[in-house]
Amino acid sequence: MTDSQPPRPLLLVVDDDRVTREFLGGLLRGNGLNVEIVEHGQAAVDRLARGGVDLILLDIIMPGLSGVDTCRLLKTMTQDAFVPVMLVTAKSDMDSRIEGLRIGADDYVCKPFDERELLARVGNMLRLKQMHDDVTNAKARLEKLAVQDELTGLYNYRYLHTRLNEEFKRAERYRDPLACAMIDIDHFKGFNDSFGHHVGDRVLAEVAARLRKAVREIDVVARYGGEEFLLVLPSTHFTGALTVADRVWRGVGGEPVVIEGQSYTVTISVGVALYPSRDVKSKDQLIKAADRALYQAKDDGRDRICVFQHQGYIYRPASPPEA
Ligand code: GH3
Ligand code: MG
Ligand code: MG
Repeated sequence: MTDSQPPRPLLLVVDDDRVTREFLGGLLRGNGLNVEIVEHGQAAVDRLARGGVDLILLDIIMPGLSGVDTCRLLKTMTQDAFVPVMLVTAKSDMDSRIEGLRIGADDYVCKPFDERELLARVGNMLRLKQMHDDVTNAKARLEKLAVQDELTGLYNYRYLHTRLNEEFKRAERYRDPLACAMIDIDHFKGFNDSFGHHVGDRVLAEVAARLRKAVREIDVVARYGGEEFLLVLPSTHFTGALTVADRVWRGVGGEPVVIEGQSYTVTISVGVALYPSRDVKSKDQLIKAADRALYQAKDDGRDRICVFQHQGYIYRPASPPEA
């Protein structure tokens, strides 16, 4: 057996009868499965809550919490993560078996056990469980990919627009300020041309990491285009937006980016816009204003911050980032 083998499935046997517990434990372990055993329904609920269980074999007739009630509880606990429940019933007890299946049990086995049938049914349930887990994991991966830019790990353009829409509506409704900053790496084409596309990619990823580090958890950082990024800063006023822009600008330009032992100086230009302000009444106007401020910063010599105001006010921090 190697380390890379998947962990053995864990079965939880729930039975008040010692002989049945020992029989099931021995048979299942003997067939390469991990088995944990509890003696009543409440213990099964507690164990399931701790996670890691792949299949439950549940006795129907138990003192205290009955098998059917236990099954009902177990099923409400596992609505997202499928954990199959197999009822263990007496051959004659058709009514409880039907009731159990009706409330969500996935299969049943009858006492006295036919070993081959029991193992075949357990195998089936574990296969179903595995298939369900694979689908759930694939769905989670796809959901992440749908909102994430692969190279930088930041939010992508599509998510940004959805989110900005929501933030803008919220800001309008609660008369809350909303700031946004458009960021563009200066002379980025030169990195690709001089050092190769792979260095360009590494620079993008490092700039993205520095942007993330420079803002709060609730701020949105997205890759807007090739070497352009957009920050959305909810509940942020003029001075707050300037502070963030300044921190971001210093965070990127203040320390060279080191790739494979080689240092690269990377600077950014930042355009800041605010809602509410005279010319910013919509989400699109907010982005447009940030873009115009960025354009102004580029035009004015790059490596600086420009704040959009209707008269085109330019702001540049007094001291350059420390090398
Ligand atoms: P400016 O200071 O005016 O912004 O100049 P610039 O060179 O940064 O701007 P320009 O728009 O001329 O060039 C942007 C470059 O970014 C060109 C494009 O090849 C590069 N780029 C866009 N996306 C990627 C990417 O994913 N990886 C790499 N390595 N380069 C990219
Ligand atoms: Mg650029
Ligand atoms: Mg650009």
